Amino acid sequence: MAKHVEKAKVESAAPELQFGGVWKYEPAPESTDHFTIAPRYELFVGGQFVKPKSGEYFATIDPATEKPLSEVALAGDKDVDAAVKAGQKAFPAWKALSGEDRARFLFRIARILLERAREFACVETLDNGKPIKETRDVDVPLAAQHFFYHAGWADKLDLLFPGQRPEPLGVVGQVIPWNFPLLMAAWKIAPALAAGNTVVLKPAETSPLTALRLCEVFQQAGLPPGVVNVITGDGGTGAALVRHPGLAKVAFTGSTEVGKEIQRAVAGRNVELTLELGGKAAHLVFEDAALDQAVEGVVRGIFFNQGHVCCAGSRLLVQESVHELFVDKLRRRMSRIRVGNPMDKNTDMGAIHSKPQLQRIRELVAAGVDEGAVLHQAPCELPQKGFWFAPSMFTGVAMSHRIAREEIFGPVLSVLTFRTPEEAVEKANNTSYGLSAGIWTDKGARILWLAERMQAGVVWNNTFNRFDAASPFGGFKESGFGREGGRQGMRAYVRLRGGLLPG
Ligand code: NAD
Repeated sequence: MAKHVEKAKVESAAPELQFGGVWKYEPAPESTDHFTIAPRYELFVGGQFVKPKSGEYFATIDPATEKPLSEVALAGDKDVDAAVKAGQKAFPAWKALSGEDRARFLFRIARILLERAREFACVETLDNGKPIKETRDVDVPLAAQHFFYHAGWADKLDLLFPGQRPEPLGVVGQVIPWNFPLLMAAWKIAPALAAGNTVVLKPAETSPLTALRLCEVFQQAGLPPGVVNVITGDGGTGAALVRHPGLAKVAFTGSTEVGKEIQRAVAGRNVELTLELGGKAAHLVFEDAALDQAVEGVVRGIFFNQGHVCCAGSRLLVQESVHELFVDKLRRRMSRIRVGNPMDKNTDMGAIHSKPQLQRIRELVAAGVDEGAVLHQAPCELPQKGFWFAPSMFTGVAMSHRIAREEIFGPVLSVLTFRTPEEAVEKANNTSYGLSAGIWTDKGARILWLAERMQAGVVWNNTFNRFDAASPFGGFKESGFGREGGRQGMRAYVRLRGGLLPG
């Protein structure tokens, strides 16, 4: 264990800072990169991997090949109870630790994660289907960044909330989705621990492997037992966790539908709640924008992570005067997207994450065709096995079409047009969601005018899908409430009291 920590110090000594503040990790040339995926994973409760009291397991597969990767424990009610009790037992000592000491653990976790970056990137790609280029350059470095960033707050909570006394809440139940499994785990766990809470995390049933591997990192870092507990399982496990009376807070990222169920489950209880839900982001392109750069931004906005992104720029609104030109450029660019083996470092777009997700994409695309929109698909040969969908774009889309209103959560772009900035805002806001938006224009004043009027938690200007642990993320309307990341994200993990500090 000590050797790992030692090595981390050397290898991550000079990380390269990329655009958007993302730390890129290059493994040392002599790195052996050996890792294995165990045939079976248990639950992580009280600092140990333990067999589920339910005695049940389920398989997790590689969506690119449909081959089983491993089986993981299915936590039942008794397992959930044991995990929450482990969190309760660990809470007083973790809370009593100085902020500086909690920060040390978080820094250590971040460094070990970077040290094992390549292994995490490979496992994430295998379990999720996303390209290795993305897990290597985005998911893993950003996950580490969340631990680094929040370590910085652990001993500065008094500066964060001046004149108030921030206190941790207790045991936090966290339920996360499959589209960014490691990153979601990191961005939920890191602020909770920095503030002095303990955690029970439930990863998504179709992508549990990196959260379980993260538990090995916690052991390596010497994190006290019970501070983080990870229980794998399905929606039933998630529901049992959310219902547990021992929780002080629930943090959920996932679909709007399940978010509403969770809201009902915690109603009337003394439980804090934050929800990060779905989206249908408007991505605006004005005639004065740098169109070739905007094309790159739009491609990143919808085809990054196969479009399995809550904040994906799935509704493209192009100013009418450049619509034809822009769509033509986009079509040509889409034909150059390399779809295929996610483990190939040249792959741009990997596999659709699961069979049900592929069915949902197909159903909505069929609805788009039925409703009269025109479908353009990039010419590409898709593998026979696994779950695949070609990069797709609809033109001739009306606001009333399902493909303009519902979250497809796949590589499918719906293109609409507008004439004036006022019309762009009206169309952009004409949705029940409000997670993110994007604006491409050369005029700074217009950006400010638009950003003020867009009902979205995040508005990107002349870029899209850029993430940073220091920047608060969260939704308006049915995209949820509460913020994660940045100073605002820490607020969700503390209780504030007035009164004078002793001395
Ligand atoms: P999902 O809601 O089906 O599942 C999310 C998690 O909730 C899983 O771990 C699942 O097991 C669990 N779950 C299911 N039913 C539950 C219940 N009744 N009680 C408690 N937990 C339950 O979502 P998904 O299909 O995994 O993820 C896709 C959705 O997540 C999309 O709608 C996407 O927009 C959203 N998402 C939002 C954000 C954000 O930050 N706003 C980020 C990523 C994904």
